[in-house]
Amino acid sequence: MSTFKAPKGTYDLTPPDSAKYLAVREALSAPLKNSGYGYIETPGFEDVALFSRGVGESTDIVSKEMYTLTTKGGSELALRPEGTASVLRAALEANLHKLGNLPVKLWYSGSYYRYERPQKGRYRHFSQVGAEAIGAEDPALDAELIILADQAYRTLGLQNFRILLNSLGDKECRPVYRDALQEFLRELDLDEDTRRRIDLNPLRVLDDKRPEVQKQLVGAPVLRDYLCDACKAYHEEVRDLLTAAGVVYEDDEKLVRGLDYYTRTTFEFVHDGLGSQSAVGGGGRYDGLSEMIGGPALPSVGWALGVDRTVLALEAEGIELELPSSTSVFAVPLGEEARRVLFAKVTELRRAGVAADFAFGGRGLKGAMKSANRSGARFTVVAGERDLADGVVQLKDMESGEQQAVALDALVAEVQQKLA
Ligand code: ATP
Ligand code: MG
Repeated sequence: MSTFKAPKGTYDLTPPDSAKYLAVREALSAPLKNSGYGYIETPGFEDVALFSRGVGESTDIVSKEMYTLTTKGGSELALRPEGTASVLRAALEANLHKLGNLPVKLWYSGSYYRYERPQKGRYRHFSQVGAEAIGAEDPALDAELIILADQAYRTLGLQNFRILLNSLGDKECRPVYRDALQEFLRELDLDEDTRRRIDLNPLRVLDDKRPEVQKQLVGAPVLRDYLCDACKAYHEEVRDLLTAAGVVYEDDEKLVRGLDYYTRTTFEFVHDGLGSQSAVGGGGRYDGLSEMIGGPALPSVGWALGVDRTVLALEAEGIELELPSSTSVFAVPLGEEARRVLFAKVTELRRAGVAADFAFGGRGLKGAMKSANRSGARFTVVAGERDLADGVVQLKDMESGEQQAVALDALVAEVQQKLA
């Protein structure tokens, strides 16, 4: 161990477990790549004002959880706490909304930073795969995203997750509801922090998980009763499309998300094996965000899925991903001459597209065979002086235990044929 440790609330991904994370990222993004979403990558930090827009509602993410810094040049930056604002900023900056047909569909994968109280499933550095569909108001787009996330979780083998669905209304009906809710909440017996939230983001109070708060929320006005006709019709259409696709969801009129910009469709994927950090992903429509950051009106919808919590969900369900071994051939030289010859063969195999590795460090046969086993390689290639004198190597099938001499010149073709 060195004198240093990973910072509080963070952890490293190391082999062999890191392979699982890669596979989860791959599985979460695969349905997007297959559905017209293009890859986008943005910086890990942004102008702090992109997130703390200073207008409208405030959220915990912005007021408490953001890592901010002042650069030597005096710029105020924030490590990105989420992806949507950055992606929209980048899409506007690149004029993607003017280049082709709308919606602009984008996907991303990366690290996010929030100053949270660390606990299982809640970290200060975590990883998300996200999708944004920018510039179209179409219930089929909301449905598409929910269907694709459902597909992603299912291809991983997850079963014990649920989809919670709600509509938060739009700029017509939401404010009317907000007023009614604030009026109701002000009458309750709540702590200082929560009272502040009534002014800043009253809908978020509904999401308070504490029983003493929940108890008082019985009888609170519900948004559903305030939705305007346009929002109602839109939401009905999203629900119908999900049902037609065979995607099961639960209407959750209390569902609000931790970000301020959501309108209409909002949803969350929760996993029942994760305790209190149960959200594995979430998202929704954000029709006003583009204008909030100085862009044109671009109604949009998106989601972000948590990679860390998805891995925890797999563990909770006892799912072992079938990860193909990354090495097909492991070469074990016996002696100096063999070392040179086999190292060249490994290079040749790799250039031919065969995943190959080599017993480095000049340890004896026993240690080298241990490495070969640990690599998970299907074949080992062993050669000593006698073999080389005969112009052959010993090719061993680690599954069957069978071993045969193969002419040095024929090795690559022989291995390729056996792996095919
Ligand atoms: P929560 O209610 O659990 O705080 P959130 O509403 O803050 O979640 P989002 O901002 O919607 O979460 O982020 C999408 C997903 O990213 C979450 O569903 C979760 O899986 C993951 N996520 C969010 N914050 C963290 C964190 N601190 N550590 C690990 N994963 C996280
Ligand atoms: Mg949060």
